[in-house]
Amino acid sequence: MTPSPTTTPDAELVEATARRVVAEHPPTSTPLPELMGAWYDAGLTWVHFPVGLGGLEASRALQPLANRVMREAGGPEPRTVNTIGYGIVAGTIRRYADREFAARRLRPLATGEEKWCQLFSEPGAGSDLAGLATRAVRDGDGWRVNGQKVWNSLAHLSRWAILLARTDPDVPKHKGLTYFVVDMQSPGITVRPLRQITGRAAFNEVFLDDVFIPDSQRFGEVGEGWIVANSTLGDERTSLGDRVAARGSGVIADALALWAAHPERHDPVLRDRLVRLWVRAETQRLTGDRARVAASKGVAGAESAIIKLLNSELAQAVYEFCLELLGPEGTLIDTYSLDAPDDESGPTAIQRKYLRSRATTLEGGTSEIMRNVIGERFLKLPQELRADKGIAWKDIPR
Ligand SMILES: Cc1cc2nc3c(=O)[nH]c(=O)nc-3n(C[C@H](O)[C@H](O)[C@H](O)COP(=O)(O)OP(=O)(O)OC[C@H]3O[C@@H](n4cnc5c(N)ncnc54)[C@H](O)[C@@H]3O)c2cc1C
Repeated sequence: MTPSPTTTPDAELVEATARRVVAEHPPTSTPLPELMGAWYDAGLTWVHFPVGLGGLEASRALQPLANRVMREAGGPEPRTVNTIGYGIVAGTIRRYADREFAARRLRPLATGEEKWCQLFSEPGAGSDLAGLATRAVRDGDGWRVNGQKVWNSLAHLSRWAILLARTDPDVPKHKGLTYFVVDMQSPGITVRPLRQITGRAAFNEVFLDDVFIPDSQRFGEVGEGWIVANSTLGDERTSLGDRVAARGSGVIADALALWAAHPERHDPVLRDRLVRLWVRAETQRLTGDRARVAASKGVAGAESAIIKLLNSELAQAVYEFCLELLGPEGTLIDTYSLDAPDDESGPTAIQRKYLRSRATTLEGGTSEIMRNVIGERFLKLPQELRADKGIAWKDIPR
């Protein structure tokens, strides 16, 4: 019989190491960078990474075990310390950077001292990411970059970015892209926050005017940016594997708490809707657990695309229910300011979450694109018509 990952010697090592770190650095009283630095030095940030780079060379399936020890000791879910850096960028650094770059950048990424953002989408390239127009042209031992990016979460707080740019417009769109890492303090970068319907500005437009990037900050070969970008996007999905949701947690917990707080609004129709939402949430949680197991084995299977699609639509349905339950009060919001802290607490948190949930079916790939991915890659349905296939990017009408 194959031993369960939680009973192997590696599991004992991960658990014992995590317990030691939280005993020596109590999460509730240790400054966050110090706590996460100790977590990194002990190899617990990404347990499957090499020793010395935040890992223990253990199975990725053991990450939830380490994270649980941190959570139970009152510490943060590690990914929240540097959302994009932790789940999306770190894996690409490990795979494509040299050891020196990885050693210099991964620790401050893990402690949250250097935030990261993703400069992929453009005004004319979101779902059709490979059609992007930002140009990188050779200049001595580096590259000059010009273009505009948009919807870049946390760019206004970030020190580093991953960037996808076009280095060859004469070949079909997927083939002329190259992947870079950019210092957000480089001359020529302008970051402009975009205000959302929540009143906050969590994402930005980013302008690149003659920005110089040393060639040493190129990941992968020139023209192979699409391959590197796909490994980044794959990590975005497999990083699902580091989370285990408890029954009744997540968005449905908000609906249950609101229901309990408003007995005066109970009626059989709303109760029926709540139960249906709960069943939907539980079914999706179990699918999520299957995705977690697949992801921990390094397979980003159909479940992760299905989960992205279903969870985003569930979030919208849950907060629509919450707003109806609140009645006229649901239209109120306490603050509408760019300075408001980026959390979802306070007296009108539900209203804010309702507004925020509109983005869930767009970010990380829209619902339509998720359905295409599921249909084409997993159900093997006929591919949608692609009129620009095989045509040089510069000749595609736009
Ligand atoms: C909150 C939030 C955070 C984000 N953070 C980042 C970030 O940090 N970095 C980054 O680079 N980007 C980020 N994005 C951008 C995100 O990846 C894009 O918004 C998304 O890929 C959709 O692209 P688009 O907005 O250009 O819409 P479009 O691609 O223009 O799509 C418009 C509509 O057409 C539909 N559509 C497009 N193509 C097809 C098709 N082939 N078949 C069927 N329907 C189609 C779409 O589903 C959508 O409904 C973020 C977006 C949001 C909302």
